Amino acid sequence: MIALAGNPNSGKTTAFNHYTGARQHVGNYPGITVEKKEGTAHLDGRNIILVDLPGTYSLTAYSLEEVVARKVLAEERPGAVIDVLNAGVLNRNLYLSVQLLELGMPIVLALNMMDEAESQGLKVNIKRLEELTGIKCFPCVARNGNGLTDALRAAVELAEESKGRVAPLEISYGNDLDIALKEMTPLVEDAQLLTDFYPARWVALKFLENDAEVMERCQKANPEVREKLTAIVERVTHHLKSTLDTYPEAMIADYRYGWISSVLKNGVLENVEEVFARADFSDKADKVLTHRVAGPLVLLAVLYFLYFVTIEIGNYPLGWLETFFGWFSDKVGGAVSSPGLRSLLCDGVIAGVGGVLGFVPLIMIMFFFISILEDSGYMARVAYMMDRIFRIFGLHGASIMPFIISGGIAGGCAVPGVMATRTLRSPKERLATILTVPFMMCGAKIPVFLLFVGVFFNKHQALNMFLFTLAGWAAALLVALGLRRTIIKGKATPFVMELPPYRVPLASGVVIHTLERTWQYIKKAGTVILAISILIWAAMSYPGVPAEKEKEIETQVAAIEADLSLSAEDKAARINEIENSDESSRLANSYAGRLGRFLEPVTSLAGFDWQTNIALIGGVMAKEVVITTLGTAYALGSVEDDDAPLKDKIANDPHWNANSANTMAFLVFTLLYSPCFVTLLVIKQESGKWRWTFFSLFFNLALAFLAAVAVKQVLG
Ligand code: GDP
Ligand code: MG
Repeated sequence: MIALAGNPNSGKTTAFNHYTGARQHVGNYPGITVEKKEGTAHLDGRNIILVDLPGTYSLTAYSLEEVVARKVLAEERPGAVIDVLNAGVLNRNLYLSVQLLELGMPIVLALNMMDEAESQGLKVNIKRLEELTGIKCFPCVARNGNGLTDALRAAVELAEESKGRVAPLEISYGNDLDIALKEMTPLVEDAQLLTDFYPARWVALKFLENDAEVMERCQKANPEVREKLTAIVERVTHHLKSTLDTYPEAMIADYRYGWISSVLKNGVLENVEEVFARADFSDKADKVLTHRVAGPLVLLAVLYFLYFVTIEIGNYPLGWLETFFGWFSDKVGGAVSSPGLRSLLCDGVIAGVGGVLGFVPLIMIMFFFISILEDSGYMARVAYMMDRIFRIFGLHGASIMPFIISGGIAGGCAVPGVMATRTLRSPKERLATILTVPFMMCGAKIPVFLLFVGVFFNKHQALNMFLFTLAGWAAALLVALGLRRTIIKGKATPFVMELPPYRVPLASGVVIHTLERTWQYIKKAGTVILAISILIWAAMSYPGVPAEKEKEIETQVAAIEADLSLSAEDKAARINEIENSDESSRLANSYAGRLGRFLEPVTSLAGFDWQTNIALIGGVMAKEVVITTLGTAYALGSVEDDDAPLKDKIANDPHWNANSANTMAFLVFTLLYSPCFVTLLVIKQESGKWRWTFFSLFFNLALAFLAAVAVKQVLG
């Protein structure tokens, strides 16, 4: 087994995908790969297991990624590690390499992004670097695969030679710490504290670095020795504090960087000063794009533009698909003779799922632009700018990625969003993030908004989508603030983020991301949403109307047929009227209809009629279901116009068109109410407690309902 390690954003996943043919998500921002991923590479006719580790700056247990990476390295013991570095910032990237060497890992260095480094005028003397470190180094461009095969081959050879362990690197940490380490190392060795996994000096070093995980494990294994070790640490800490006004951790970092810079200045980087003196394109661009005033304005413009283009272009194919589904429903209706089956197919499946699938072109265009934003490095700037705002609301800078993944810009999903909170170190800040990401405009809410905004805010579609997205943010931030002031009080922790340089996105990468995400949307519509739609169709179709009622209607129809005083046209119109009212009373009498009507006295405060209630209840399973349910309700509730597009039916329904307060209240509710079923489960998984799942469910419902009632009452 060979592992890929490196700082976030150094190109590990790109390399991993190249080696294994996998299509893991690559993004130009940190924190994407939290879990390790495994795959198989083929080299010289052999299969090699590869592991893509989460990106880390260090191997001290300060964050979850670091713990994951370290655990894999120490306990699963890869034969060798390919350390992927961004060659442009070797000085910082080598920090992790030093720690891998201290751990006794056999490593080869893949100096990645050589294309960029070279275009910046950086010259790396690979030979010299190999001489000084004793490690094999390979210039690479992971994007097109250059150099990767050589690096892998060297890693495999190294794994065979070394059997997974080499003598650990021991660098000096200055007189005080070296003495302490000399004293501590034999203690660790004699007690065999974690020495199955780690070199003894490394364990001692972790005590000096205040590594909670290592200390805890030692406490369990041997409390006595741990006590002794801690006593030594306390002694040097005190000494360093009083003599140099510094801490062991800081000292250790200084010496590691010192070691690195002595290597680099020793002929590895030939023109360091010259390169760093020149402000490159990214720096210049950032002067504007992350400027205190201009930055946020640009961000808002980008978000607006995203919706504008999506809607401008997307509305054409949207119309074609509507026509297609109408035609298709017509054809299916004509071909199926059994009324039950016909209703299932036309009213349940096509009217339901078709409504969601109709938005595929829009979703695809949106994902296209989002992929470009991600790959270009702009998303990282968004995070950087939002950090300033987040602090005010008791969230952490690292909360941004979860928000963006959940749909902060548009069209994400709270499920991976909640999982992405693992990068947060403080449990309280993490919990506040978990509980507020579901307010974002996720990909499932998007079609609901597009539908209604398309019907009722025709002139300002993009503007309204934009404003609703901002409303989601406002809700999330205010709720976070409330939570951090009340039930999850706690201190704020600092945040450092490295901004990757801007890059022209790779065309193939953008296309792959767009197609992948679009396919996921389609797949969800074709599986989960389809299944739920059928269930809801059944709940809306049964138990039907009582037999006497059916009889009565038949008699009425027969009476009209027999009435000689009516013209044929009048007859048809009257029969139609009776049948229509029959259909809607059938829907009202169904199980779902009864539930919807049961709630109506309360929900009417927010302007929701019973049909809306059914749709919103369905939406707890998955937000797209709001649309499928409305589609089915309209298809079941009348006999005519079965294949007119849902948007026309909504446009002609007085419940919506005669009262904009109903529409607004409905949309506000949809934005804020309970996370969908899967998100609720993930909240339990990530927070560890059902309590927070129920909190999310009921608190968000109550909040959404109050907001909707307020909107309805104010707008009338
Ligand atoms: P990870 O965080 O280490 O997994 O990094 P990723 O594989 O997600 O890559 C981060 C960004 O760097 C993506 O936008 C890649 O397209 C880009 N990238 C990766 N390798 C190269 C390279 O060799 N040259 C250039 N110019 N960009 C690269
Ligand atoms: Mg990655």
